[in-house]
Amino acid sequence: MSVRKLHIAVAGAGPAGLATALYLRRDGHRVTVYDRFAEPKPLGSGLILQPTGLSVLADLGLSGEISKSGNRIDRLHGTDAESGRTVLDVRYDARPGGRYGLAVHRAALFGVLYRAVLGEGIEIVTAAELDAVVPGERTWLVDAQGRALGAFDLVVDATGARSRLRRSAGLAGESKPLAYGAFWASLDWRGTGFDEVSLTQRYRRASVMIGVLPIGRAEPDGRQMAAFFWSLKPDDAEHVQSQGLTAWKAEVARLWPECQTYLDQIEDFDQLTLARYGHHTLPLPAARGFAVIGDAAHSTSPQLGQGANMALLDAAALAHALRRASDVDAALAAYVRARRWHVRLFQMLSLAFTPFYQSDSVLLPVLRDRLVATVAKLPPAPQLLASIVAGTLIDPFASAGLTEADWTAQG
Ligand SMILES: Cc1cc2nc3c(=O)[nH]c(=O)nc-3n(C[C@H](O)[C@H](O)[C@H](O)COP(=O)(O)OP(=O)(O)OC[C@H]3O[C@@H](n4cnc5c(N)ncnc54)[C@H](O)[C@@H]3O)c2cc1C
Repeated sequence: MSVRKLHIAVAGAGPAGLATALYLRRDGHRVTVYDRFAEPKPLGSGLILQPTGLSVLADLGLSGEISKSGNRIDRLHGTDAESGRTVLDVRYDARPGGRYGLAVHRAALFGVLYRAVLGEGIEIVTAAELDAVVPGERTWLVDAQGRALGAFDLVVDATGARSRLRRSAGLAGESKPLAYGAFWASLDWRGTGFDEVSLTQRYRRASVMIGVLPIGRAEPDGRQMAAFFWSLKPDDAEHVQSQGLTAWKAEVARLWPECQTYLDQIEDFDQLTLARYGHHTLPLPAARGFAVIGDAAHSTSPQLGQGANMALLDAAALAHALRRASDVDAALAAYVRARRWHVRLFQMLSLAFTPFYQSDSVLLPVLRDRLVATVAKLPPAPQLLASIVAGTLIDPFASAGLTEADWTAQG
């Protein structure tokens, strides 16, 4: 059983939109991708593809491509800047199956998906600022000038956390801003003092988190790079900048002297991108002829590093639902069911974990330090933490057509 061949608009060419377009085109649907960018480009620095996201890329036949650019991650390790105590230690191999993460530059993930989309001959409409949908038997997509771009059997909203489309369709879910954001930069990788297969972090209580993530190459033949980040309240960014770059660098170097080699590469605050985080989960990520996926359906802080992976899982689940159902309505209901519990659980966990690492709390970091030093070392805690980070604490795939073998046999 499968729906007839549909005319589908995919709104947004981030990881969610591009992966969806690939799946649906390969299933024989007519697909048009819309994005506001005038020239295709990725935003931001690096991210970790978890075993879940890697399985979706493997399902799309893109494992080889992404592995050429990415950098394998086996461990997430963080220490307190003052005491030197370990306050975060998660190893993927605490669970059997040879799992690992793959840290990538966003440009690498974008490039791999985008080239595959072009290779399939999928139509991409750029410089399209989308504003609204009118869901129905045929769903209308409307741009910011009020022009109707067309009527489709299905519109997939993959326009990210600040989606206007979901609002226009009457789906609730305003994003609640989180207290902490971060300055991010992509810099040249310097190995000295840093483990090449770890995300390494340094903390002062929960109010400062500095991180270095080796992210491989933006292009397969490019230089090896690292994502460098410093957490702060977005409202404080102006104050930090007014104190000057030298003062900020001195503070980073005081907390983590080995970072000097990265600080030396920063000559202007313009090299740092301020990321703001928000949290929302749509109770129902679909309406008639309209599906919401990725950050548009659920966004959160990157503390657990799941966002892009959840976006890829959504794409796989939606495609699988359309393959199995007899009509679009049934497929959308199946998509919502398939992702419901996995999304809710990981959104809840992200919300629960974030204040231990990014908040003004005095108590939570003390509790964190005690727990990591004691309980977190005893089975089954290491296995549990590994499953949380891998995104496999509960089965994200059963109803998306992928099996456990897909995320344990990445090697
Ligand atoms: C600093 C930071 C670090 C992160 N680290 C990680 C990590 O380690 N691991 C992880 O899995 N995730 C991480 N994430 C989250 C991850 O980046 C997102 O979850 C992921 O990008 C969501 O993909 P998406 O395709 O749903 O949305 P997006 O990537 O936001 O893509 C949305 C697309 O829609 C387009 N668009 C938006 N609005 C419109 C409009 N009105 N009209 C036309 N086009 C529009 C945009 O141009 C964009 O191309 C991090 C996020 C941040 C900010």
